[in-house]
Amino acid sequence: MLRVAKFGGTSLANGAQIKKVIGIIKKDPCRRAIVVSAPGKRHPRDQKITDLLLRISDHNHTRNDLHEIGYVDMITVRFEEIVKELGLEIDIKQIFGDILEKVSKLGPLLAREYLASRGEYLNAIIIAKALGFEFIDADEFIHLDEKGRYDQKRTANAAQKIGLVEKVEKGIVVPGFYGIDAQENIRTFPRGGSDITGAIVSAVLHADMYENWTDKPGVLMTDPSIVPDARTISQMNYSELRELTYMGANVFQDEAVFPVRELDIPINVRDTNNPGHPGTLIVAKSNDEPNNLCPITGIAGRKNFTVISMSRALMNQEIGFVRRVCSIMEEEGVSFEHMPTSIDSLSIIISGDQFAGKETLPSRIDQEMRPDGLVTQHGISLICVVGRAMVHIPGIAGRVFGALGQAKINVKIINQGSSETNIIIGVSDSDFENATRVIYNEFVV
Ligand code: ADP
Ligand code: ASP
Ligand code: MG
Repeated sequence: MLRVAKFGGTSLANGAQIKKVIGIIKKDPCRRAIVVSAPGKRHPRDQKITDLLLRISDHNHTRNDLHEIGYVDMITVRFEEIVKELGLEIDIKQIFGDILEKVSKLGPLLAREYLASRGEYLNAIIIAKALGFEFIDADEFIHLDEKGRYDQKRTANAAQKIGLVEKVEKGIVVPGFYGIDAQENIRTFPRGGSDITGAIVSAVLHADMYENWTDKPGVLMTDPSIVPDARTISQMNYSELRELTYMGANVFQDEAVFPVRELDIPINVRDTNNPGHPGTLIVAKSNDEPNNLCPITGIAGRKNFTVISMSRALMNQEIGFVRRVCSIMEEEGVSFEHMPTSIDSLSIIISGDQFAGKETLPSRIDQEMRPDGLVTQHGISLICVVGRAMVHIPGIAGRVFGALGQAKINVKIINQGSSETNIIIGVSDSDFENATRVIYNEFVV
């Protein structure tokens, strides 16, 4: 039995937290492959080590002497405090000196990713020593392709070459968040990417379980900053996790589900500060059927979308209309999230990041497609209500709209996926939190 245990930055923010983590690992001999993040925030106004490293990189373009910048000292002091609290002897200044030496030889883009990865690197060295496990650097086996995506084949080959399976017997610690590209440069995953490393290590080792330890008792039914006492989702399936995390539940990086889903490895999201809590179990097919008392699994959402809506009489009969709209989007290099349609109308929902710098897109569509009407709305939030039970239990959409109507919240967009396991609604950004609370209260009694 092998459990891969990934610990997030909040679980490793200081020596006291790391001691808790060591206690959790030592309690179960199955926890022999450990993946760690960089130290996160110790309190709400604190800074994550990764953010401090990125600040050094911001300055790197203009200054030669990296030591001039206070961030270097802030980072070394934090790691030195951790080392001291754990009673270890590691020369952090020496290691960080070597890091800065290497940074000065890299171009700005590679230097940025290399620097960003060093929080995980240092933390893994420290935690391996504290546990008496072997430190295995991610650059020894995690390969990324030219687009920065996980290269499954090369990773599996490299893992075999270094004898990863054998090394696990005595315990290993792997830094999260990065790997190596074909040119042997250190490349990072998207933010929150240590979750991806945890999933890759689980897949490579064919683990029995991927434990993901964080600062909340599992994946909660909605964002706890909106509903502070939101319930834990006890079980769900991989698609529900993907939908919730993609739509905003950032407790788990949304791409991290893929390596484990392929091999049917269950994920267990757990709370480092409450290790007795079972957390959330994510499996291929959940046998914990949601009931009529709470027929939904969870609610997630994101702000700042732009919606371009166009209408034209008999659009439904016009062959190639959608294709031409898509070609314009492709030429402009803009990807869209959703494209809800009705008989004579079509909307394109674009995230704020994608729309930035593409402000002329609506007028181009207007000129080339000549719709009867075209309206662009900014500042739209998408809220996704997710639940595998929706297919069987009628009336869920009606309850969502009824509750929002009673709260006088104007629904601007409605989109139901063909899988019928989610309903997506669009509201103004100013209504986002309230609408989330209203939907939560409608279903959770
Ligand atoms: P870690 O450092 O363990 O990787 P993150 O900060 O990435 O932790 O994710 C945990 C945070 O995600 C929580 O503290 C919480 O604020 C936020 N969060 C957002 N949505 C949810 C949700 N549905 N369930 C749990 N936490 C959520
Ligand atoms: N340290 C990285 C970040 O802050 C990766 C992670 O924590 O998962 O995004
Ligand atoms: Mg995280």
